[in-house]
Amino acid sequence: MRCGTITCDCGKVAYVESNKMFINCIDCNKKIDISGLMEMEESEEADDA
Ligand SMILES: [Zn+2]
Repeated sequence: MRCGTITCDCGKVAYVESNKMFINCIDCNKKIDISGLMEMEESEEADDA
């Protein structure tokens, strides 16, 4: 799981949490490499109420 803030070439700044190496920009749908983001451990206490 990686989390952090990414900035797309289009200027969109977004906070992402993903276990993938890439995400798509929510504005322009461009593929963004997030492999450089900080990894975080997944919590057992998932807040999915
Ligand atoms: Zn974009």
